[in-house]
Amino acid sequence: MRGRNSKALIFELSKPGRTAIDLPACDVPQDDIQLLIPAQLIRQEKAALPEVSQLDLMRHYNSLSERNFGVDSGFYPLGSCTMKYNPKINEDACRLPGFALIHPLQDSETVQGALQLLYNMEQYLAELAGMDAITMQPAAGAHGELTGIKLIRAYHRHRGQNRTKVIVPDSAHGTNPATAAVCGLDIVEVKSHPDGAVDLTALKAAVGSDTAAFMLTNPSTLGLFEKNITEIAQIVHDAGGLLYYDGANANAIMGLTRPGDMGFDVVHFNLHKTFSTPHGGGGPGSGPVGVKKALIPYLPSPHIVQKSGKFSLAADRPQSIGKVQSFYGNFGVIVRAYAYIRVMGPDGLTASSQDAVLNANYCLSQLKEDYYAPFERFCMHECIITSKHQKAYGIHTLDIAKRLLDYGYHPPTIYFPLIVEEAMMIEPTETESKETIDGFIAVMRRIAREAEEDASLITKAPHTTVVGRLDETAAARKPVVKWQR
Ligand SMILES: *Cc1c(COP(=O)(O)O)cnc(C)c1O
Repeated sequence: MRGRNSKALIFELSKPGRTAIDLPACDVPQDDIQLLIPAQLIRQEKAALPEVSQLDLMRHYNSLSERNFGVDSGFYPLGSCTMKYNPKINEDACRLPGFALIHPLQDSETVQGALQLLYNMEQYLAELAGMDAITMQPAAGAHGELTGIKLIRAYHRHRGQNRTKVIVPDSAHGTNPATAAVCGLDIVEVKSHPDGAVDLTALKAAVGSDTAAFMLTNPSTLGLFEKNITEIAQIVHDAGGLLYYDGANANAIMGLTRPGDMGFDVVHFNLHKTFSTPHGGGGPGSGPVGVKKALIPYLPSPHIVQKSGKFSLAADRPQSIGKVQSFYGNFGVIVRAYAYIRVMGPDGLTASSQDAVLNANYCLSQLKEDYYAPFERFCMHECIITSKHQKAYGIHTLDIAKRLLDYGYHPPTIYFPLIVEEAMMIEPTETESKETIDGFIAVMRRIAREAEEDASLITKAPHTTVVGRLDETAAARKPVVKWQR
């Protein structure tokens, strides 16, 4: 079957001797090539590669690409991931030859524009975060966390203090405790209050002379603003610990409040979430880290300095934790985020945060009749509902997520945060129109009716996708990722 929706693998399309390109005969003596490659690395058998025409090849990859789902194809309310629209002008900017074709080992005299962009970006992010200095090196949010916790460890060590514990709330993103563990620190988990906030009594009991840091995001992973943040900061600082801000939720607060003003000492941003650079599928990303003055000496080196209008790289931080990424970070991602910030301007960024919060609250207000809303208060940029009301019909959150695929929507984040049973975390972002959000709400309501009338429609979903319901456990534990004859 080779029709438009053929599911044939490229190997199955293969016919011996068919080829997509016709290369001229090799004019380099084969013996010379064999001399360059160590004998044990030279393949003896012919590689079992598919043999197809260029047209078959094009159709194959085109059809694969059509099975993809991205922000450019549909609504993608994946909570905590901020799948906002990525304006195409960002792409134009990062492809400008002056950015795309330079090499990091070029003399700094010849890349003044690129250095200036990095320098300006540091200033913008420091302003947005309320921090004193920024490093652009980290390549992702989790990498920013690793950098930040290393900075905090260096800070305490320099003061001769052996602080080994990192406190995280039980609602934290998995990367927070993972980061602390990778840094060789012990994790202390504090339970959340039933209203979703950090439990101050539990926090007070957890801090001590061994506290290195408290890692927190505000708004929290429950989409709620920590109203007690200044008191939390006081408790941690009084114990001699530092506050780490997981900035993955910054889309809710741009221009409205700043982690630095809330008392945080170290921050990371996810440029690939908040600042509209494409993400998903593992990268590339960018997770710049901002710090207060006391931590500047430990920042990664080299860093960009400006002297009488000239930009250069300086390696004058003897206490630096060192380099955390090749050269100065994922430059192309940073250029995209820079273009976004310049196009939006301060008022635009603030407005986008306000709209993100408005859209999430609109979703919550429209869905809380048909779905259970565990927190009775306004949310920030994302909202949480659950499938508690649908439980009676034998329906779980996973089933609802699968049914959404039939209607052409990417499901929200599910089963996160872990402390909310059967959670669905919806983050519509500011870039979606009211019509799009209304369409999603209508489908969610329709699914709630289907649950009452014909639950099997949902428990057996999806019905319209290329593959139906997968055995997710087997897919994770016994993946078949290689074609076998
Ligand atoms: C996405 C996210 C991270 C990790 O960021 P990556 O760039 O994926 O490494 C950390 N914390 C929260 C709350 C997040 O949403």
